[in-house]
Amino acid sequence: MSPSDEDLGLYVHIPFCRRRCHFCAFYLEIARSDRMALFRSALAQEVALYRKQEFLNGRSLQSIYFGGGTPTSLSADQLAALLTLIRATWPTDGAAEVTVEAHPSSVTVGDLTTLADTGFNRISFGAESMADKDFVSIGRFGQVQDTASAVQAARRAGFRNINLDLMYGLPGQSMQDWIGTLESLMTLVPSHISCYALTIEEGTRLAQDIARDRVPPPDDMLQIDMESAAERFLIEEGFSRYEISNYAKPDYACRHNLLYWTGGEYLGLGPSAQSCLHGVRFGNVADLEAYAACLNDNRLPITERTILSASERQRDALVFGLRLLRGVPRGAVRDAERDRQIEELIAKGLLDADHEWIRLTSLGRRYADTVAEQLF
Ligand code: SF4
Repeated sequence: MSPSDEDLGLYVHIPFCRRRCHFCAFYLEIARSDRMALFRSALAQEVALYRKQEFLNGRSLQSIYFGGGTPTSLSADQLAALLTLIRATWPTDGAAEVTVEAHPSSVTVGDLTTLADTGFNRISFGAESMADKDFVSIGRFGQVQDTASAVQAARRAGFRNINLDLMYGLPGQSMQDWIGTLESLMTLVPSHISCYALTIEEGTRLAQDIARDRVPPPDDMLQIDMESAAERFLIEEGFSRYEISNYAKPDYACRHNLLYWTGGEYLGLGPSAQSCLHGVRFGNVADLEAYAACLNDNRLPITERTILSASERQRDALVFGLRLLRGVPRGAVRDAERDRQIEELIAKGLLDADHEWIRLTSLGRRYADTVAEQLF
């Protein structure tokens, strides 16, 4: 499951959705054809600028990930053209994982066949829940039964590697509802499941609804019980939990996301996309207008750039690596101060260690952000 030093991923951020879910604070715009046309031509220019600089030094891509937003806001032909452009620009490993995120209500068998024929071999559907009432409370468009149709259509189109993203701790969602969602999704035989606890982000519609007492706030204890119940349920169904929020059938762990958690390198394209390459972390401007204006001017739309010191690299390796259930090798800790922080976290019951590995305890998995803060 570890990438080699040569492993390299490409992320493409497609910042459009049909409408904004009430909990969502991601950078995105409501999908409109003129804005998507602006995005596509700017993205092509970004690819062209990187190609001119020979930025990837001829290295081949082991994973390509189209995320968002909702990538399937673009038509299947437009997504196929983008993937074709990327593969014509950079060498791609024959066994590369090529993922597209999709909204279950925005795809047809024809679309999915176009995507599979072009080379997408993994699809990630935002299912969220299988209860209609949950869609209402989080302002999600579409119908829960669209997930079943979309998964069946994906399978008919040739996809074997199918992920479903789920959320738990939704307003008014009971434990029984959550288990009901997991049970009905098992009939679709996914190869990968991601389970995320609902978090309330400042400035979202959901945060406002809670502040005005229109919606109950998440129940932390119930969320903890739901996380444990999902783990028990999915392990019994043959999944292994390999990361805090991710479960996979054997050989279906997400290769692209493993790059992030194991110190692999990646280039991000599109507004707000993040990159980490050649020891430098950098990010694109989170604004389509500014992104397109830079590229129109033949400049890369990079707004933040951090050259990582050895200590920052070590911290990143720990913070991201600890998200994996197996943890990080002890050898990743190479200074006395970091060792002291780890001993403190062990004493608090947040980390566990033997002579070879350091890993989060089940308590630590719930407070992974606190652990990250303490590994400054
Ligand atoms: S579909 Fe995903 S990215 Fe789009 S608004 Fe909903 S949560 Fe956010």
